Amino acid sequence: MAYLIQGETGDWELVIGLEVHAQVISKAKLFSGAATDFGADPNSQVSFVDAGFPGMLPVINEVCVEQAVRTGLGLKSQINLTSVFARKNYFYADLPQGYQISQYDQPIVGEGELLIDLADGTTRAIGIERLHLEQDAGKSMHDQHPTKSFIDLNRSGVALMEIVSKPDMRSPEEAGAYLTKLRTILRYLGTCDGNMQEGSMRCDANVSVRKKGEQGLRTRCEIKNVNSIRFVQQAIEYEARRHIDVYEAGGDIRQETRLFDSAKGETRSMRSKEHAHDYRYFPDPDLLPLVIGADFVEAVKATLPELPDDKKARFMAEYGLNAYDSGVLVAERASADFFEGVATGRDAKMAANWIMGDFFAAMNSGGYSWEKPPVSAAHLGAMIDLIKDGTISTRLAKDVFVFMVETGKDPAAIVEEKGLKQVTDTGAIETAIDAVMAANPDKVAEIRAGKDKLIGWFVGQVMKATQGKANPAMLNELILRKLKE
Ligand code: MN
Repeated sequence: MAYLIQGETGDWELVIGLEVHAQVISKAKLFSGAATDFGADPNSQVSFVDAGFPGMLPVINEVCVEQAVRTGLGLKSQINLTSVFARKNYFYADLPQGYQISQYDQPIVGEGELLIDLADGTTRAIGIERLHLEQDAGKSMHDQHPTKSFIDLNRSGVALMEIVSKPDMRSPEEAGAYLTKLRTILRYLGTCDGNMQEGSMRCDANVSVRKKGEQGLRTRCEIKNVNSIRFVQQAIEYEARRHIDVYEAGGDIRQETRLFDSAKGETRSMRSKEHAHDYRYFPDPDLLPLVIGADFVEAVKATLPELPDDKKARFMAEYGLNAYDSGVLVAERASADFFEGVATGRDAKMAANWIMGDFFAAMNSGGYSWEKPPVSAAHLGAMIDLIKDGTISTRLAKDVFVFMVETGKDPAAIVEEKGLKQVTDTGAIETAIDAVMAANPDKVAEIRAGKDKLIGWFVGQVMKATQGKANPAMLNELILRKLKE
C-alpha cells in the first residue's frame, strides 16, 4: 500500500523530511529577560540584547533549556549533556545582530523517533535527526505603508526549538500525521502551544522524488514556512509532481528554497539553496558551552506527563477501546481527561461513542472549548447511568442530551421535568400494542401469514404512540409474543 505517483516513465516514490520551528513556551526570551507575549504593541518587548546593541551580552534562560530537554525526552531522543551555541551569520533588516545564535554541530538533543498514526489504524516510526535551540528573528512588515517597510523586534530573540526529522516520510498523509503527532506531543509536554496560525509552529518541507526501487536520494527542494498542515500536504504534492515532470522531460532539479502560494496551490522559486558554509558558523565567543547534569535530565524526566502513545495503549488495554477511538481521544490531553471523567466506573465503549458522537458534534457547533464544554463529564456520566439502569432508552437519551446542552441542567432533572422517563410498565406497553393491532387487523394477518418484515413497522407505530418512551427491549419482546400468539 505504498504511496506512489504514476508518471509516464513508471512509478515514483516521494522522500520527505520536515524541519519544524517550534516556539518555546517561556515568559522570557532565550538570552534576555524581555517578555514573549503574542500580539503586544510593536517593539514593546525588546531589550538591548534583542536589538543587537554593541557590547550587550546574552545570558541563557534556564527555562528554555529545560523545555528543550523535556521535548527531547518526549521525542525519545538522546539528550546531549554538552552542547554549543554558534553564530549563524547573515544579513537581514529584521536581524539586528547580523547573526542568529543557534546550535550547529553540537545540538542539545540528538537522534530519536516519533510514531505517526495513519488513517488505516497502523503506526510507523519516523526518525528524529536532532533538536537544537536558537533565537527567532524580528518581523518585517511590508503591508503597513505604501513605500516603507517597518520592523517589529518583539519576536527577536524568542527561543525556538528547531526539530529536524530524518527523510523518512513517503506521502503527504505521513507528513500530515507527523505534524499532527508532533503538535500533540508538544502540547502534552507544555513546551510549545503548536499554534500554526500565530506562527508559533512553522514547517519547512524538504521534498525529492526517486523511481520506485531506486537507492540513494535525488536533489531536494525546501519549501519554507508553510503555516498549516493542509498546506504542507498540498505543497508536497505539488512539488513532487513538479520534480517528476522535470525529470520526465529530461531536465534536472536544482537545489533551491521555494515558497508555497496557498491561493494558487503552487510552489515558486525563492532563492537558490544556501549551504551551511555560506553562514560562516563559529562558536559564539560570548557563550560558554552549555553543560547540563545527568541529574537535571533525570529530574525533568520525573515530571513528564503520560504521553499520547502510552495513553493510547492504556486506553486500549484498560478500557477495551480500539486503536482508532483511542487515537482520537488522546489527540488532546483535555479530551483524554474528559473521556476518563466519563468512563471511569462505567461502560467505556458507550462513553467513547457518546463523546465522539453527540458530544463532539455539539462541541463543533461553536462557542465551546474544553474549558467550557457543552456538557460536563459528570453530567454525561450521569446520563449514561440513566441509560444503563433503564430510566431512559438510548433514543430518549439523544433528546435528554440536547436539553442538557441547552440548559446546563443535570440529566435526572431534565428527565423529571420533561416526563421523559422510559415506560417499563408491561401493562402500559401492552395496551399500546393492542391498540395498534386493533387498528391494523390486515397487517396483523399478513405477519401471521409469515411476512416478518412488517414487525419493524409495528415497533415503529407503538414507539410513536408512546412518544418514544417504551423500553425498546420490552417492546420487541411483547410485540413478538402478541403477534405470534
Ligand atoms: Mn532554524
